[in-house]
Amino acid sequence: MDIITNEDYMKNNIFWFRRDLRLHDNAGLYHALKSNLPIIPIFIFDTEILDKLPTKDARVEFIHSVLTDLDEELQSLGSALQIYYGRPLEIWKGIVNKYDISQVYTNHDFEPYAIQRDTDVKDMLAQKNIGFQTFKDHVIFEKDEITKADGLPYSVFTPYKRKWLAKVEEGRNDAGLSYFYKPYPTEKYNSNFAQGLSSKRVSLKKMGFEKTDIQIPSTDVAQGIIKKYEAQRNFPAIDGTSRLGIHFRFGTVSIREKARKSQHLSAVYLSELVWRDFYATILYHNPQVVTEAYRAKYDRIEWLNNEEHFEAWKNGMTGYPLVDAGIRELNATGHMHNRVRMLVASFLTKHLLIDWRWGEAYFAEKLLDFDLASNNGGWQWASGSGTDAAPYFRIFSPMAQLERFDKQRKYVLKYIPELGTDEYPQPIVDHKMARERCLATYKKALAGQ
Ligand SMILES: Cc1cc2nc3c(=O)[nH]c(=O)nc-3n(C[C@H](O)[C@H](O)[C@H](O)COP(=O)(O)OP(=O)(O)OC[C@H]3O[C@@H](n4cnc5c(N)ncnc54)[C@H](O)[C@@H]3O)c2cc1C
Repeated sequence: MDIITNEDYMKNNIFWFRRDLRLHDNAGLYHALKSNLPIIPIFIFDTEILDKLPTKDARVEFIHSVLTDLDEELQSLGSALQIYYGRPLEIWKGIVNKYDISQVYTNHDFEPYAIQRDTDVKDMLAQKNIGFQTFKDHVIFEKDEITKADGLPYSVFTPYKRKWLAKVEEGRNDAGLSYFYKPYPTEKYNSNFAQGLSSKRVSLKKMGFEKTDIQIPSTDVAQGIIKKYEAQRNFPAIDGTSRLGIHFRFGTVSIREKARKSQHLSAVYLSELVWRDFYATILYHNPQVVTEAYRAKYDRIEWLNNEEHFEAWKNGMTGYPLVDAGIRELNATGHMHNRVRMLVASFLTKHLLIDWRWGEAYFAEKLLDFDLASNNGGWQWASGSGTDAAPYFRIFSPMAQLERFDKQRKYVLKYIPELGTDEYPQPIVDHKMARERCLATYKKALAGQ
């Protein structure tokens, strides 16, 4: 006799996982589980995204392994994850034919592609009288929650941050917990996952991916790192930052939990989390930044775009040790220290006069923590065209940065063992010449503003 499961005859609701790959403290999942129907949990490996990636991609491998763990957790709750592979709209057409669904629940995603995808899915579901309920989960504040007095979005970080912190304070209760950091107690409603489902998985191989040997940082960050963050975060030879970037990106940690835990340990660390919200909001309000300069006149810069220089930069062979060590760290580990990211990006755009979009795309391919909003924000900041941009005439000196942040040469020697020998290249551009050339080029582009 066939076992009849609730997927065969009952109405269900669905929760769609995206950049929130966890069961605990998940806003959309919480609201789904509190609805009055059993929840079928799903994930879609999107071919629109995957088809553009190389066969070895540590992020795809990471998501795949996280989903396997999620499925096991769900199985221990009597349910199972349904993993699909294809184009989201097509997959959804199949899902609505298979199940009798009332509502779909999911969390917001602010990237232009995701917004369009969600609009298409929502419209298709609406034609079948199925609701699409979405929630804030990825950030503490989103969209228009932090605006200037006139209701317009901020374009400068410091006043944005002041308002952000004030709003958190306004939300504090007598016990000192801010409403905005409050966890969603998803676990109270775990019994509402649809029971009796069998797992639906997709192998890495089927999707055309291979395993890599890149290590993913742990979600357990020693408290000492956060406590000493302010003093240590600028020195790439020290293990002084949280390495949580990839976990924030894919939601394997909760932003509310990390903000809550760090608020009394380090104001500077919390401030980095505010930057993350800030850039997500900038992208939401200015989707054109994906292809255009945030400050339009910076698109008048005449980039040199020398391919040989770009190759040298990508291979860590510019002859500037801190730049080269950074790129080599990225190529070997999928990570680059923030202080070094700033220099590496500045060097590409200002010393080599290569379009920031080239560097942005390279980081997007390599960074484990790649996030469109923060990467674009970081690159536009470095090239001078973004929010809060340092004046263009402030150009990092790669040698002075090395002296200041890696005086003992510990970091550069880790990635450039041949430093100081004939094997290490001479600088591909002279610093003084490059600085003057940059000033002249920027000045010309920005003249007559
Ligand atoms: C050119 C350039 C490109 C960058 N690309 C990315 C990117 O693709 N994805 C990304 O998450 N960060 C990016 N950053 C910001 C920053 O370098 C990384 O977030 C950080 O180095 C990640 O390491 P960590 O997790 O140890 O960070 P920590 O120093 O421990 O900080 C904790 C978290 O705060 C957030 N954060 C820290 N600094 C920033 C920042 N400046 N802007 C936004 N969020 C921040 C991140 O989520 C980070 O994981 C970029 C910076 C630059 C200059």
